[in-house]
Amino acid sequence: MDTQINWDAATDETIQHLSHLLQAQTINPPGNELPAILIIKEILEKEGFPAEDVKIVESAPNRVNLIARLHGDGSERPVMMSGHVDVVPVEREHWDHDPFGGEVIDGYVWGRGAFDMKGFLSMYLQTFLQAYRQKLPLKRDLILAAIADEEDGFDHGSKFLVSQHRDLIDAEYGITEGGAFTMYLGKTKAYMIQVAEKGVTWIKMTGHGTPGHGSLPHDDNSILYLAEALERLNKAQHLPVHITPIFKGMLKAAGGQIKSPLGSVMGLLGNPTVVSALINRSSGQTKTLLKALTTNTCTPTVLRSGSKTNVIPSAAVVEMDCRRLPGQSPEDVMDEIHTIVGNKVTLEPFYRSDGNASPIDSPFYQEMEKVTRQMDPEGIVIPLMMPGATDACVYTEAGIKVYGYTPGILPADFSAMAMGHAHNERIPVSYLRSGLPALWQTISEFCGK
Ligand SMILES: [Zn+2]
Repeated sequence: MDTQINWDAATDETIQHLSHLLQAQTINPPGNELPAILIIKEILEKEGFPAEDVKIVESAPNRVNLIARLHGDGSERPVMMSGHVDVVPVEREHWDHDPFGGEVIDGYVWGRGAFDMKGFLSMYLQTFLQAYRQKLPLKRDLILAAIADEEDGFDHGSKFLVSQHRDLIDAEYGITEGGAFTMYLGKTKAYMIQVAEKGVTWIKMTGHGTPGHGSLPHDDNSILYLAEALERLNKAQHLPVHITPIFKGMLKAAGGQIKSPLGSVMGLLGNPTVVSALINRSSGQTKTLLKALTTNTCTPTVLRSGSKTNVIPSAAVVEMDCRRLPGQSPEDVMDEIHTIVGNKVTLEPFYRSDGNASPIDSPFYQEMEKVTRQMDPEGIVIPLMMPGATDACVYTEAGIKVYGYTPGILPADFSAMAMGHAHNERIPVSYLRSGLPALWQTISEFCGK
């Protein structure tokens, strides 16, 4: 089947679609997905795709989602490729090229959303178009979902679809952003397929004291209590290490594939004391990643207290963005924080969303793992738990097994981790060229008869 496809032409077509999508200013907030959805609708129309198999559903003015379906024989349940079309805002003055130009410059397609995630969506669209053109005989329906509101709470996109249009997105498996592209870990090329996401708990930490006049200082000052608690958190470096089954799965997969002596010491990372020591001694990206994978994290982000320089406030508040490992409740995290900060401050959770995990022994995961390994035989393929949350958390809650899968080979000087939401967001053409055949192989083998 692959021999019929001209991959250079497919790459050019993908770039064309991507450029158009990047020119649609779908900044969220406020969210204005309509122009991007209309571009995809038009592409499908030009292709002669049956109108009755393309549904456009609106949750609010300009907040729209497009769901297209290729029918299989129904012997197995559908697979969905879902990509959000909304993007985060830009600070234009920090960009070297127009963030909404969609220009191709020196081997990169530039624009807000190129990497998160209009580029990936364009690859999904290309795969979908190819399946339609080739009349690929399917045992499962193949669903293409272009959706709204991933960047600001999911309400108009995945949450809306799950609650109001469940039938349109009913699938056994789904893929979305965040996985199977090259991460350079020292000399190792790692391809991480996202299988889980951490849960979110936002916590208010408050120092309480006695109000008074700034000219008559006393010892019961709320700001100083809060400052002391934050200093303790800072000194502790991290909350306790938990070795989760997913982290063990990552270690096992990595240990089995890394040929250097590093592979054999992987097992040591199953020991919480070793991991804790390593976090304390490491720095930069390694420290951040290791901490995110093995601990509940707690990041102070908003600080509030006082209203006048000569008035001692009775309360000082910091809001903290905490991310929970699988199996950890908000109460567990609060206990861990309390142990460190002491009892001069109070803790109060004010937002929660749960993490999710999809199986790494499913036939679909195994297919993705196999294809990714074939795409780059020098690389290692490991399951990944994401510190952040994507549409996967909403879909998983609805019973769909969702993976972060957007395969492709990235150049060594391109950091995927630094690219999301960054100035000068762009995606390498070489990545699209290397990833398209892999994505096609995965979908055509798994959904085809
Ligand atoms: Zn995204």
